[in-house]
Amino acid sequence: MRVAIAGGGLAGLACAKYLVDAGHTPIVYESRDVLGGLVAAWKDEDGDWYETGLHVFFGAYPNMLQLFEELGISDRLQWKQHTLIFNQPDKPGVLSRFDVPDIPAPINIIFSIIRNNDMLTWEQKIRFAMGLLPAIVRGQKYVEKMDQYSLLEWLRLQGVDEKVNTDIFIAASKALTFINPEDVSATVPLTALNRFLQERYGSKIAFLDGSPTERLCQPMVDYVTERGGEVLTKKPLKQILLNDDGTVRGFLLRGLDGAEDEIVTADAYVSAMPVDVMKVLMPEPWKQIEFFQKMEGLEGVPVINLHLWFDRKMTDVDQLLFSRSPLLSVYADMSITCEEYANPDRSMLELVLAPAKDWIDQSDEAIIAATMEELARLFPQHLTGDNPAKLLKYKVVKTPRSVYTASPGRQACRPDQATPVENFFLAGSYTMQRYLGSMEGAVLSGKLTAQAIVNSPLAAAPVSRDRRPVGVGSQN
Ligand SMILES: Cc1cc2nc3c(=O)[nH]c(=O)nc-3n(C[C@H](O)[C@H](O)[C@H](O)COP(=O)(O)OP(=O)(O)OC[C@H]3O[C@@H](n4cnc5c(N)ncnc54)[C@H](O)[C@@H]3O)c2cc1C
Repeated sequence: MRVAIAGGGLAGLACAKYLVDAGHTPIVYESRDVLGGLVAAWKDEDGDWYETGLHVFFGAYPNMLQLFEELGISDRLQWKQHTLIFNQPDKPGVLSRFDVPDIPAPINIIFSIIRNNDMLTWEQKIRFAMGLLPAIVRGQKYVEKMDQYSLLEWLRLQGVDEKVNTDIFIAASKALTFINPEDVSATVPLTALNRFLQERYGSKIAFLDGSPTERLCQPMVDYVTERGGEVLTKKPLKQILLNDDGTVRGFLLRGLDGAEDEIVTADAYVSAMPVDVMKVLMPEPWKQIEFFQKMEGLEGVPVINLHLWFDRKMTDVDQLLFSRSPLLSVYADMSITCEEYANPDRSMLELVLAPAKDWIDQSDEAIIAATMEELARLFPQHLTGDNPAKLLKYKVVKTPRSVYTASPGRQACRPDQATPVENFFLAGSYTMQRYLGSMEGAVLSGKLTAQAIVNSPLAAAPVSRDRRPVGVGSQN
C-alpha cells in the first residue's frame, strides 16, 4: 500500500518507519527544508547548533527507547545521574537535588523526597504524599478523570500545602506543558508522576549526543528509504482533495520556488502536521463531523527556546535544571550535557522560556535582556561582581504554536489516529495516546497510526512473508 504522510516531525517519521516494517510504502511530505518539526535544529554561521527546543528523554519513554534500539542508535542517548535538580529562588546560585537511589520504584522516589530537606518540611511532605494517594491507588483511570480540574484546583481539593505547588509543581507544569499550574489540566503532571512512581528508571534523564535532526531524524529517514519509502522536504500540503463520498482523492502540494502545484495520490493518507495546521486545512464537509469538530478545542501553546554562548564555564552540572524562576522553565549547559556541543572552556546555556504568551511578540533583544536579568539570580557568582561572564552571542527560537495547550477538558478533544474517513488517518503528539505532548507521545502516535492503517480494510490484501506486524507494545 502507498501511504502519503503530510508532516515530517517525529510522528510522521515514526509512522513511516512502522509502515515500512509492515511491508508498505510511505511517502513523507514535509513543508520545510528541515525535518523534525518541534525537534528541528540548525547550524549557525559558526557551525554551532541551535534548536527548536531543549529536549530530554526519560526512562519512562518505552516506545522512544524501543525505536532507538530498532534503529541501532541506543548509544546516542547520554544517560545522566538519576537526580532532579532545582534552583532555589531564596538562595541565589544554590541548587537543591532530589537524588534517586538505585532501588525499586516507588521507594526510590519516596526516598529522594524524604532525603531532600531544602524544599519541603516534613508536614508538607506527608500532606503531599496523602494527596497523591488516590492517583497512585486508583491509577490512570482516576488520573484521566481529573482532566476536569486544573492542577492548582486539584491540589487544593486534596488539601496539599500551597508550598508544594510553588516549590515543585510550578516547575513541573512549566517544564511539561509550558503553562502554569492554574492553567494546566491535573491529568498531565499526575500522568507523569504516576510513570515515575511505577518505573525504577522512569524519571532518569538522557540527552541526545547531538542535534535531533542529524542524530535521530536522519536514521529514521535512512531506515525508511532503505526499505522503499520516501521522505521529501519542501513539499507543503496545500489542500486535502476529496471524492464525492468525502474520502480523500489526493493531496494537493504547493509548488515552491516557481514550481507548479502537484497532486499526489495514495491508498491511504495521513496528517502528521500540527493540530493548528490540520484545522486550517480541514476540508469543509469534514467540519460537520463531530470527530473533527472536537479538534477545534485544541490549540498549540507558545514557547521560546533560548541559546546563550558565554566566554567561560558557568556551571559544571551535567544534567537538566529546573530554574524555578518566573520567566524561565528548564535549562542545561549543553557544552556539558551533549557530546556534539561540548566545549571545555565555554558554556552554551539552552533555556526554555515559558509561559511565553506575553513574550512571543517581543523582540529578541528584549527577551535576552529579561533572561540575563533572571540569570544574574541563577548564576550570581558569574554574572555579578567585577569580572562578569560575557555573553558572546545568542539565538532565540520562537514557536508561537507548539504542542497542544494541555488545559482542563482537552483530553476529550484529542482525536484517535483512525478517523471516520476510511482512507484518512491522524498522527501527532496531540492525538490520543497516553504520553501527552512529548516526543514519546509523537512516536507512539505514529506507531498507532501505522497500526490503524495496517488493521484497516484498506490493507486487506494478503500479507507478504517479510512483513512484520506493527508492535504497539506500550500504551502503558
Ligand atoms: C521548546 C520545546 C521543548 C520540548 N521539550 C521536550 C522534552 O524535553 N521532551 C519531550 O519528550 N518532548 C519535548 N517537547 C515536545 C516534543 O518536541 C513534541 O511533542 C514532538 O516533537 C511533536 O512531534 P509531532 O510530530 O507530533 O509534531 P511536529 O513536531 O509539530 O511535526 C509536525 C510537522 O508537520 C510539518 N508541517 C506543518 N505544516 C505542514 C504542511 N502544510 N505540509 C507538510 N508538512 C507540514 C511541520 O513542519 C513539522 O515538521 C518540546 C517541545 C518544544 C517546542
